[in-house]
Amino acid sequence: MARTRLNPMLSKINRSYTVEEVARTYGLNRETVRRWLRVGGLSAIDDRRPALIQGVTLRVFLAARRQAAKQPTPPGMLHCFGCRAGRPPALGMADYLRPDGAGPGNLRALCEACGTIMNRRARWAVVPAILPGIEVRVVEQAGRIAERPTPPVTVTSSKDGNP
Ligand SMILES: [Zn+2]
Repeated sequence: MARTRLNPMLSKINRSYTVEEVARTYGLNRETVRRWLRVGGLSAIDDRRPALIQGVTLRVFLAARRQAAKQPTPPGMLHCFGCRAGRPPALGMADYLRPDGAGPGNLRALCEACGTIMNRRARWAVVPAILPGIEVRVVEQAGRIAERPTPPVTVTSSKDGNP
Protein backbone atom coordinates (compact mmCIF):
# COMPACT_ATOMS: atom_id res chain seq x y z
CA MET A 1 0.00 0.00 0.00
CA ALA A 2 1.43 3.34 -0.98
CA ARG A 3 1.92 5.67 1.89
CA THR A 4 0.41 9.03 1.12
CA ARG A 5 1.94 12.08 2.65
CA LEU A 6 -0.86 14.05 4.17
CA ASN A 7 -0.16 17.58 5.17
CA PRO A 8 -1.78 18.19 8.56
CA MET A 9 -1.88 21.92 7.84
CA LEU A 10 -4.51 21.46 5.15
CA SER A 11 -7.18 21.42 7.82
CA LYS A 12 -8.18 24.65 9.49
CA ILE A 13 -8.11 24.48 13.25
CA ASN A 14 -11.14 26.66 13.78
CA ARG A 15 -13.67 24.65 11.83
CA SER A 16 -15.21 21.22 11.85
CA TYR A 17 -15.21 18.67 9.09
CA THR A 18 -17.55 15.94 8.07
CA VAL A 19 -16.11 12.64 6.89
CA GLU A 20 -16.83 13.73 3.32
CA GLU A 21 -14.99 17.00 3.81
CA VAL A 22 -11.96 15.31 5.34
CA ALA A 23 -11.89 12.89 2.43
CA ARG A 24 -12.16 15.71 -0.09
CA THR A 25 -9.58 17.92 1.63
CA TYR A 26 -6.98 15.19 1.70
CA GLY A 27 -7.94 13.25 -1.38
CA LEU A 28 -8.81 10.19 0.65
CA ASN A 29 -11.40 7.49 0.40
CA ARG A 30 -14.29 8.22 2.77
CA GLU A 31 -13.96 4.68 4.07
CA THR A 32 -10.41 5.47 5.14
CA VAL A 33 -11.65 8.36 7.26
CA ARG A 34 -14.42 6.21 8.73
CA ARG A 35 -11.88 3.55 9.60
CA TRP A 36 -9.76 6.14 11.37
CA LEU A 37 -12.83 7.09 13.37
CA ARG A 38 -13.67 3.49 14.20
CA VAL A 39 -10.28 2.02 15.01
CA GLY A 40 -7.57 4.47 14.04
CA GLY A 41 -7.81 6.76 17.04
CA LEU A 42 -9.38 9.76 15.31
CA SER A 43 -12.07 11.31 17.50
CA ALA A 44 -15.27 12.97 16.40
CA ILE A 45 -16.65 15.88 18.42
CA ASP A 46 -19.49 13.74 19.78
CA ASP A 47 -21.57 10.69 18.91
CA ARG A 48 -23.99 12.51 16.67
CA ARG A 49 -24.41 11.70 13.01
CA PRO A 50 -23.01 12.79 10.71
CA ALA A 51 -19.73 12.69 12.56
CA LEU A 52 -17.93 16.01 12.82
CA ILE A 53 -14.21 16.22 13.35
CA GLN A 54 -12.55 19.32 14.66
CA GLY A 55 -9.85 20.70 12.40
CA VAL A 56 -7.41 20.85 15.28
CA THR A 57 -8.12 17.21 16.20
CA LEU A 58 -7.53 16.24 12.61
CA ARG A 59 -4.25 18.10 12.51
CA VAL A 60 -2.95 16.44 15.63
CA PHE A 61 -4.09 13.05 14.39
CA LEU A 62 -2.39 13.43 11.02
CA ALA A 63 0.78 14.83 12.52
CA ALA A 64 0.98 11.82 14.85
CA ARG A 65 0.36 9.50 11.93
CA ARG A 66 3.09 11.14 9.94
CA GLN A 67 5.45 10.84 12.86
CA ALA A 68 4.59 7.15 13.18
CA ALA A 69 5.26 6.65 9.48
CA LYS A 70 8.82 7.83 10.00
CA GLN A 71 9.48 5.05 12.43
CA PRO A 72 11.11 2.15 10.70
CA THR A 73 8.64 -0.63 11.14
CA PRO A 74 5.18 -0.86 12.67
CA PRO A 75 4.12 -3.81 14.83
CA GLY A 76 3.32 -6.96 12.89
CA MET A 77 6.05 -6.30 10.35
CA LEU A 78 9.77 -6.60 9.86
CA HIS A 79 11.82 -4.36 7.64
CA CYS A 80 12.28 -5.82 4.18
CA PHE A 81 15.35 -4.60 2.37
CA GLY A 82 13.87 -5.84 -0.87
CA CYS A 83 10.76 -3.72 -0.53
CA ARG A 84 12.48 -1.03 1.53
CA ALA A 85 9.49 -1.04 3.80
CA GLY A 86 7.91 -2.88 6.67
CA ARG A 87 6.27 -6.10 5.53
CA PRO A 88 4.28 -8.80 7.29
CA PRO A 89 5.87 -12.24 7.51
CA ALA A 90 4.74 -14.60 4.77
CA LEU A 91 2.04 -17.04 5.94
CA GLY A 92 2.00 -15.28 9.30
CA MET A 93 5.03 -17.26 10.42
CA ALA A 94 8.44 -16.32 11.73
CA ASP A 95 11.46 -17.98 13.31
CA TYR A 96 13.25 -16.84 16.39
CA LEU A 97 16.86 -17.91 16.56
CA ARG A 98 17.65 -18.26 20.20
CA PRO A 99 20.83 -16.45 21.18
CA ASP A 100 23.87 -18.37 22.36
CA GLY A 101 24.17 -16.24 25.44
CA ALA A 102 22.06 -13.65 27.17
CA GLY A 103 21.88 -11.16 24.33
CA PRO A 104 19.12 -10.68 21.82
CA GLY A 105 18.25 -13.40 19.37
CA ASN A 106 17.32 -13.03 15.77
CA LEU A 107 13.79 -12.77 14.52
CA ARG A 108 13.54 -13.97 10.97
CA ALA A 109 10.76 -14.26 8.44
CA LEU A 110 10.15 -14.19 4.72
CA CYS A 111 8.70 -11.05 3.21
CA GLU A 112 5.11 -11.62 2.23
CA ALA A 113 5.53 -9.42 -0.84
CA CYS A 114 8.89 -10.40 -2.33
CA GLY A 115 10.22 -13.40 -0.42
CA THR A 116 13.33 -11.66 0.88
CA ILE A 117 14.52 -12.86 4.27
CA MET A 118 13.86 -10.21 6.86
CA ASN A 119 15.86 -10.12 10.06
CA ARG A 120 15.58 -8.24 13.27
CA ARG A 121 17.65 -8.55 16.41
CA ALA A 122 15.32 -8.81 19.36
CA ARG A 123 15.00 -10.17 22.84
CA TRP A 124 12.43 -12.90 23.23
CA ALA A 125 10.45 -10.80 25.68
CA VAL A 126 9.68 -8.17 23.05
CA VAL A 127 8.89 -10.56 20.20
CA PRO A 128 5.12 -10.55 20.91
CA ALA A 129 5.17 -6.75 20.70
CA ILE A 130 7.08 -6.77 17.43
CA LEU A 131 4.99 -9.47 15.77
CA PRO A 132 1.64 -9.64 17.54
CA GLY A 133 -0.49 -12.52 16.33
CA ILE A 134 2.34 -14.08 14.37
CA GLU A 135 3.26 -17.70 14.94
CA VAL A 136 6.89 -17.56 16.00
CA ARG A 137 8.87 -20.80 16.05
CA VAL A 138 11.88 -20.89 18.31
CA VAL A 139 14.91 -22.30 16.55
CA GLU A 140 18.08 -23.24 18.36
CA GLN A 141 21.23 -21.81 16.85
CA ALA A 142 22.31 -25.35 16.03
CA GLY A 143 19.15 -25.75 13.98
CA ARG A 144 20.13 -22.98 11.65
CA ILE A 145 20.11 -25.23 8.61
CA ALA A 146 16.38 -25.15 8.42
CA GLU A 147 14.30 -25.40 5.31
CA ARG A 148 14.79 -21.73 4.63
CA PRO A 149 17.69 -20.42 2.61
CA THR A 150 20.42 -19.11 4.86
CA PRO A 151 24.07 -18.27 4.36
CA PRO A 152 26.11 -21.45 3.94
CA VAL A 153 27.14 -23.16 7.13
CA THR A 154 30.36 -25.11 7.16
CA VAL A 155 29.89 -28.56 8.61
CA THR A 156 33.20 -29.79 9.98
CA SER A 157 32.16 -33.14 11.34
CA SER A 158 29.25 -35.51 11.17
CA LYS A 159 28.19 -37.38 14.26
CA ASP A 160 25.62 -39.63 12.70
CA GLY A 161 27.92 -41.11 10.06
CA ASN A 162 28.94 -44.74 10.02
CA PRO A 163 32.27 -45.75 11.58
ZN1 LIG B 1 9.89 -7.54 0.43
